[in-house]
Amino acid sequence: MTTTPPAAESEATDEPDSALTTARRQLERAAAHVDVDPGVVERLKYPTRVEQVSVPLEREDGSVEVFTGYRAQHDDVRGPYKGGLRYHPDVNAEECTGLSMWMTWKCAVMDLPFGGGKGGVAVDPKGLTDDETERLTRRFAEELRDAVGPTKDVPAPDMGTDAQTMAWFMDAYSMQQGETIPGVVTGKPPVIGGSYGREEAPGRSTAIAAREAVSYYDRDLSETTVAVQGFGSVGANAARLLEDWGATVVAVSDVNGAIYDPDGLETHAVPTHEEEPEAVLAHDAPETLSNEEVLELDVDVLIPAAVGNVITADNADAIRADIVVEGANGPTTFAADAILEERDVPVIPDILANAGGVTVSYFEWLQDINRRQWSLERVNEELEDHMLDAWNDVRAEVDDQGLTWRDAAYVVALSRIAEAKATRGLWP
Ligand code: NAD
Repeated sequence: MTTTPPAAESEATDEPDSALTTARRQLERAAAHVDVDPGVVERLKYPTRVEQVSVPLEREDGSVEVFTGYRAQHDDVRGPYKGGLRYHPDVNAEECTGLSMWMTWKCAVMDLPFGGGKGGVAVDPKGLTDDETERLTRRFAEELRDAVGPTKDVPAPDMGTDAQTMAWFMDAYSMQQGETIPGVVTGKPPVIGGSYGREEAPGRSTAIAAREAVSYYDRDLSETTVAVQGFGSVGANAARLLEDWGATVVAVSDVNGAIYDPDGLETHAVPTHEEEPEAVLAHDAPETLSNEEVLELDVDVLIPAAVGNVITADNADAIRADIVVEGANGPTTFAADAILEERDVPVIPDILANAGGVTVSYFEWLQDINRRQWSLERVNEELEDHMLDAWNDVRAEVDDQGLTWRDAAYVVALSRIAEAKATRGLWP
């Protein structure tokens, strides 16, 4: 079934911001700085389609439960839809739509030949056995079979899904199509067409963005202090790389709180979320802090890399970092953004900083289509090149138009999408 797109929302200012509200508001802000046909902006406020499917699952006790799955496809003017599939009880059509719009901007700012998609199943994955998760995934892949494909829409892991989920999805799709089609999803294990370096890529790109920001503001990484909220895939990889490159990481946290050492932590010795969940506080350090305190530390660079909406109107005035680099998606609310702008605290936006994930997904897709695996060294070199190109494109807008980093990133993205739309025209 295809649902009609949700109606445009009224100007919402309350926190926390929904993904759709944020996506539409950013579109309007960017449009004010770009010479763009208003008709193109209007088209971009809506997804192309939002698929809603029923996913029946036979439980271990023989009973049948029906879950609802979604796939929002926002815009494909620059290439196939691209974005994650999440398994979470709160998954719904509106959230998928907003997140699919973010993916459109993220792919465009990185100049990847993809548009934005997002989907998932409204289910608590912790309540499923492995076999149930496999059956649910295979059935979901079958329900979405007409909507996805390497040249149509390419899902990836997201909250509650992982490389194994993608392997089952790819297998189910391939079995029905009658041939092995690894390029239907990314984020797979390397043995079936996944890319080396995919897992650490969002953290790596976040570290590159932080390094470039430090250099842009005429500082030396070896004299830079860093605090990181969230020590998972994004936060830990970013923290460890920045330490390797000479920065002093003074604080890292997980959901239980933070450890703090003004002389610098040895981040490789602190267990990540994957190595040992929620074990940051067990690591020996001079001080522990709360997650609120870690955000307010007097450091050069703050990297919120845990969850969304942590820097809000309530604490934006208390942020003492000189630069904020968004490792998580949407950690800064719209109201907080305005306060930080007023205070001249640069915020390097998520759609640029953590875009290493979708960029290496693009590399994975290229490897799948060409049936040729790249080395980790090549992946990391190409990621570095893509990040620097995107960084320089965004920096040019910051310098030329005096925009914030976030507005500049959206201007770069919107310009590319609008030009593609204008060139292709509106059919019929
Ligand atoms: P993860 O599950 O690997 O790690 C999350 C970390 O944050 C853990 O250390 C956890 O303890 C901590 N945490 C959870 N809730 C917290 C809270 N309320 N306060 C403080 N810490 C908390 O997750 P991840 O993959 O690193 O993702 C982190 C963020 O980055 C999310 O916003 C995600 O959407 C975004 N992101 C992830 C990827 C990716 O491919 N992994 C790509 C782009 C963006």
